Amino acid sequence: MKKERLVILGGGESGIGTALLGKAKGYEVFVSDKGVIKEKYKEVLIHNEIEWEDNKHSEEKILNADVIMKSPGIPPKAEIVQRLIVAHTPVISEIEFASKYTEATIVGITGSNGKTTTASLTHHILKNELNVGLAGNIGDSFAKQVLESNYSNYVLEISSFQLDDIIDFKPHIAIITNITPDHLDRYDYKFENYIASKFRIAINQTKEDYLIYDADDEVIINHLKNNPVQSTLLPFSLTKTIENGAYLDKESIKITIDNDQIIMPTTNLALEGKHNIKNAMAASTVAHLLKIRKQTIRESLENFQGVEHRLEEVLKINKVQYINDSKATNVNATYYALESMDAPTVWIVGGQDKGNDYNELFQFVNEKVKAIICLGVDNEKLLKTFEGMVDIIIETQFMSEAVKIAYKVAEMGDNVLLSPACASFDLFENYEDRGRQFKNAVRNL
Ligand code: ADP
Repeated sequence: MKKERLVILGGGESGIGTALLGKAKGYEVFVSDKGVIKEKYKEVLIHNEIEWEDNKHSEEKILNADVIMKSPGIPPKAEIVQRLIVAHTPVISEIEFASKYTEATIVGITGSNGKTTTASLTHHILKNELNVGLAGNIGDSFAKQVLESNYSNYVLEISSFQLDDIIDFKPHIAIITNITPDHLDRYDYKFENYIASKFRIAINQTKEDYLIYDADDEVIINHLKNNPVQSTLLPFSLTKTIENGAYLDKESIKITIDNDQIIMPTTNLALEGKHNIKNAMAASTVAHLLKIRKQTIRESLENFQGVEHRLEEVLKINKVQYINDSKATNVNATYYALESMDAPTVWIVGGQDKGNDYNELFQFVNEKVKAIICLGVDNEKLLKTFEGMVDIIIETQFMSEAVKIAYKVAEMGDNVLLSPACASFDLFENYEDRGRQFKNAVRNL
């Protein structure tokens, strides 16, 4: 019998993982990347005798595919993708492809902010008592883990780009952490399209499956009102009492599922900030659903070390705390960072502006920020917006200089916070590079 042809567009982590899984499942596999494929991935392809190309898309090798796996970074408007759509070739994402080859229970986590933190925390709790893998946008690709590991559960961090190309993918437990405008360039600048994309995480769920979501998020609530889902709903809230789901009652998280309640104190939570109480509620709800012992959940919440570049405490120098929140690439993430500051703060902000509206930050800037250091191509807008709100506002194009200025301005007991609210691609390779440069500059002080 002729082998089915699987063509993979994009030779990154998810592309290579899918290629390996596809080959093992009997497909004829071809990987095509319009950019350069990293050396380490090329080696894997060569070693596994998988055909590939980079710096081009050869149509004659792509248009004859039976199925296409499109990497999340490739926009649907790309010419080659459009041609495939016209030809009615199924275009799917890695999670769609890989989930067909595992019987594992899947916890899928999406949202505008908090995906990585919530996925890592959920995995951190579950791994004490379950055989569980962590994948999606984190670490080794899901497809590769399905091929090489034997997990009976997966926690997946899932972007809207992955959800755009699912057909049957169905997580038993889904989380939507929150929805604020982001990546709108991929959604025809229509917020509704982006919201609908996030909710695709629940499209194949039935009432035996669960959807956990932030009940304080009006965007989510309104969408659910107008577009009901089949899933059993388990909301979480910081402000309301929730009968089925999780809520904050003074200093405790209370989680009730089918009249079975567990109570967790928040006083010893390892992660700070209101947003992290929400992340803890979501992760603990999953753990409660999967019957993890209460003592295990509590201990895990207390000893979770957090994730690099998310409100990461770097060093204390002369009693000044330096905090790396480089992953804050939009205003909403920075909102929660500023909100969680408990001391006067020197704030390093800026980068590539995404059409940001800074209004919602004013209250915190007035209350907590003593100086602003603008770092990026779009400093002009920041200077205009925050001038007059703080005594000191300075601009630079260099991380090392930004940190030196912060060091001069900060006094005993202050925080120095890098929380850019912008993309990093102006001065840095990516947000990780930005965060690392910040940490190096701090260590060199
Ligand atoms: P994502 O994977 O969705 O980008 P991360 O966990 O990497 O989310 O966090 C991205 C940024 O958002 C960080 O600056 C982090 O401090 C902040 N953040 C984390 N959780 C939340 C939340 N629930 N709501 C808003 N911001 C959050």
